Amino acid sequence: MPGRASTPSRPVNLSVNLHPYGEGRLLLSRDVTALEQAEAMRRDFVANVSHEIRTPLTVLAGFVETLQTLSLNDQERERYLALMAEQAERMQTLVSDLLTLSRLEGSPPPGLTDWVSVPTLMRQLEQEGRALSAVFNPSRDRLHQLVFDSLLAGEIAGIPNELLSAMSNLVGNAIRYTPSRGEIHVRAFLLPDGRAEFSVQDTGPGIAPEHLPRLTERFYRVDRSRSRDTGGTGLGLAIVKHVAQRHGAELKIESTPGKGSTFTIIFPANRVRSLRIAACSEPIT
Ligand code: ADP
Repeated sequence: MPGRASTPSRPVNLSVNLHPYGEGRLLLSRDVTALEQAEAMRRDFVANVSHEIRTPLTVLAGFVETLQTLSLNDQERERYLALMAEQAERMQTLVSDLLTLSRLEGSPPPGLTDWVSVPTLMRQLEQEGRALSAVFNPSRDRLHQLVFDSLLAGEIAGIPNELLSAMSNLVGNAIRYTPSRGEIHVRAFLLPDGRAEFSVQDTGPGIAPEHLPRLTERFYRVDRSRSRDTGGTGLGLAIVKHVAQRHGAELKIESTPGKGSTFTIIFPANRVRSLRIAACSEPIT
């Protein structure tokens, strides 16, 4: 039954049981709101995963059947095989993101003993970012304008592949959602209070304010077809948020529809070791 303080936006559910107790009865009342919410989340998650896998699997099975039943010429065969490879890759990406999330949930939080070099992370991100931009814009005259500003010559305490995965998800999203020739600015710098900020700013389509609070939910997408067309799984920002939380960091999302978005991860001062602050670095374009 609904609790007394229950409202449609904040439901409170009670489980009330009457048991025989000696000569009388015992009434047991329990708040089961959190339990029911967790169960609903589990059900949604399983339904979402099944749905995400079923679509490419159906397409793949359809192509297999076509190859088995129709006699195709070499060119047609090649085309079908390429489409099948695309669907298989989609499933691989999805499974790999799901495994990343489950590893994040199952492993102990990162300690303060392993230090990751920020300039090395930025170099890796730049290499990956430029390669990804070239994939989306095969005619090289329409590449994104990528600027990497590494103003923090220091280290962050954490797990290297988690930090790289979170940051490259943000850079990847900026590239995937920003039209060709758009600008993407990636920065890493030290704040005056000793915290470190990593941000990715783009001139893409932006995101309407009503979507912002839900972006880090698993499988939440603003534009479903754009996400799918560019190889998205809907899990990227959930991974980013998880990694940030595990590192005691905050994820901030600012966006103006039609102008662009900025995703920022702010690391707490106790996880930042600054070796030297570059006075001013010329952005590498
Ligand atoms: P996806 O794999 O769909 O990109 P994410 O979890 O990374 O999943 O992002 C969730 C949704 O947030 C995306 O589907 C997209 O609608 C929106 N989004 C993320 N990054 C950007 C961006 N830089 N510009 C515009 N929309 C974005």
